[in-house]
Amino acid sequence: MSPPKYKGIIFDIDGVLKRGSTPIPGAAETVRKLRGKGLRIVFLSNLSTKSRRQYVDILRNKIGIEVSPEDLVLATSATADYVAKNSSTGKVYFVGHQGLREELESHGLKIVDDPEEAEFVVAGSPFDEKGYVTEENRWKFTGAIRAILLARAKFVAVNPDKLFPGPDGKPIPGTGTFLGAITAATGVEPVIVGKPSEEIYRIALEKIGADPSEVIMVGDQLYTDIIPAKKLGLTTVLVLSGLTKKEDLEKLDAETREMIDYVFEDVRGVLKLVE
Ligand SMILES: [Mg+2]
Repeated sequence: MSPPKYKGIIFDIDGVLKRGSTPIPGAAETVRKLRGKGLRIVFLSNLSTKSRRQYVDILRNKIGIEVSPEDLVLATSATADYVAKNSSTGKVYFVGHQGLREELESHGLKIVDDPEEAEFVVAGSPFDEKGYVTEENRWKFTGAIRAILLARAKFVAVNPDKLFPGPDGKPIPGTGTFLGAITAATGVEPVIVGKPSEEIYRIALEKIGADPSEVIMVGDQLYTDIIPAKKLGLTTVLVLSGLTKKEDLEKLDAETREMIDYVFEDVRGVLKLVE
């Protein structure tokens, strides 16, 4: 018998394991079966607002998957990790929500109120789920510009996502909209740590401890999940339970289509690859 081909799987969370707060049918059972086959499973999310502690709760209570913080690679925690590794003073001017603040602080970084003290500007989304700038973030456009222009702070962002569907289905701005404003004012482009940056995939591969050729990426979006994972040499699975629909596949050019190794209706299809 030949040794198993795959050692680990990276699961995108939204559109793959859940939609909003509704679990995708079979998600918990599929993860349990894959773990039963000895595969190391890592969960990945690009959201700029939530910490690992919050995601442990969501996966456990909403989807029924038992996880520890060690199983999670989030854009928030990966960004905190990146800044902690590259900082000398640890002083951060922070834009965003509580979950990101929690990750920055748990990585030993210090949040400063005075932009001119900052070594880094770390940006998540300053907007709430209805598209309003939150009270805490009201002055952050000005603060971030001053940190970059006056203190030469380095500019780092959790993700580049410009728009999301709001609760009524109409667009609301995300982190990328904030980044665009700050870049327009300062001429400085941020370093992006979350998807589609390779940085977050490298962290996930390190956690699994396997070669890219031994790892499967399961996602619902081409630009953030499939393309960067394929470029790093992972096997790619596109599921149709999230943002990409069957009709979208027919419109793809040949080069992009080739980056998708397998297409399944939902997450249960992944079991076929390890039987
Ligand atoms: Mg997704």
